[in-house]
Amino acid sequence: MELPAEKQKWLTEVKRNGQNLQKAPEHLKNDKDVVLAAVEEHRLALQHASEELKKNKDVVTAAVEKDPRAFTFASEELKKDISFVKTVVQLKPKALEFAADALKQNKDVVMAAVQQNGEALQYAAAAFKAEKEVMAAVQQNGEALQYAAAAFSAEKEVVMAAVQQNGKALQFAAATLKTDKELVQAAWLQRVLRDGTEMQHAPWILRNNREFLIKAVAATRAPWLLKLSSEALKQDKELSEHLKALAGTGLVFTYYHSFDCFHNMREAFLATGASAPGGQAYEEVMKKLNETSGGSATVWFDKVHVWGFAAGHWRHPSTDCGRDMVPVPPPEGRDPMWEAMVESRIERLTPEVGSQHPCWCCRWLRVVKEKIEAGAVICCVVSNIYDDSWVDDYGAGSSEVSDRVAEHYGLKRDRFRNGRPAGWGEGSIEIYEGRGRTHKYSRVAPMHPHTKLPLGEGCRWEREALDNLDCTVMAFFMP
Ligand SMILES: [Zn+2]
Repeated sequence: MELPAEKQKWLTEVKRNGQNLQKAPEHLKNDKDVVLAAVEEHRLALQHASEELKKNKDVVTAAVEKDPRAFTFASEELKKDISFVKTVVQLKPKALEFAADALKQNKDVVMAAVQQNGEALQYAAAAFKAEKEVMAAVQQNGEALQYAAAAFSAEKEVVMAAVQQNGKALQFAAATLKTDKELVQAAWLQRVLRDGTEMQHAPWILRNNREFLIKAVAATRAPWLLKLSSEALKQDKELSEHLKALAGTGLVFTYYHSFDCFHNMREAFLATGASAPGGQAYEEVMKKLNETSGGSATVWFDKVHVWGFAAGHWRHPSTDCGRDMVPVPPPEGRDPMWEAMVESRIERLTPEVGSQHPCWCCRWLRVVKEKIEAGAVICCVVSNIYDDSWVDDYGAGSSEVSDRVAEHYGLKRDRFRNGRPAGWGEGSIEIYEGRGRTHKYSRVAPMHPHTKLPLGEGCRWEREALDNLDCTVMAFFMP
């Protein structure tokens, strides 16, 4: 069925700018399709809808989904409707601000909001802020402590719950508790767990505290926390060995979600990315790596033909393979590793007997070992997303591969010395990116346009080699 021309015209208008709803004829401000299209385009377009549609649960829900502030334009009836408000604040906790006053002290409603986002506590009625239920808010978001009734900031149990969720919440504790040893330790342990480089900002009393450092390394598996400790502790060889043993070996995923941590590590000491998938983003990855001081990742050869990491069922070992610039022997009785193609950025070919080619795996292993000897902390990067825009611009993405996908493409399964991180290769991952921003990325490796395989074939070999190193390697989703 064709839409009337007028409705079609206004649908187009509001899709262009939701605020155009204001200029629409009255009967179209009462048209669900037009209003839904408007609130979809503009976060606050609900204000121009008819009174009738401001009572419509579908329309209001759609608007609030876009922006919790839109709830202010909903009908007074809806703002008083307990079950509807509960649904709305579960969706967008900050919508609580615009609920009817009576509901701001309704435990059911407020709990629904603060369990979703503790910060919504600020919109609760004063009476609620003095209830023991504020615990739920500070457990969800430690910084909600600032909105609790003043008495709570002097209650150690509440402050402890808050700093265990977010160490920065200690600033909202009562003056008497701000220097409480247990609280200070708990607060800084939480900060270090979120980003190990926070250690450098910890009070000297903690940076010079052996027990605290041991506790922190046990919790994070990051032996490099020692680099950010006091000079006295850094000189302690025995302590250093103890921390290494405590951290163990292989890939460590403590800071996998934190873009900031890797960035701050590189600023604070010599930390180097030893693996990053290239794919279509190859040129840009190269540029980035050259810009980053002290960084080195995959050894690239561009137009030179090189040996790869596999030959039939043969896989390159985590040590020298014996092919690097060694003349190709005649076919009779030679090792299976020679039954491979050599490959440049442009072409693949069968190497002639007697010809010599670099082995990128051997070269890469050598670079990694040199970096370790130079005292660098080795980091493994699992995506080549350096910036949001890279996903669209270069098809950048993750190189995580789930067992299901590996089986489908006949690839080797991703294995981990210390166990597989939850959700590997499936769904999405939330990354903390600077100034408290978070961003979601797909964990599923995109298709490489040339190999028609999930992105990061070579980098998965590198990952396995890094996992076999005799030291800890910090894994990050994003460099
Ligand atoms: Zn080799």
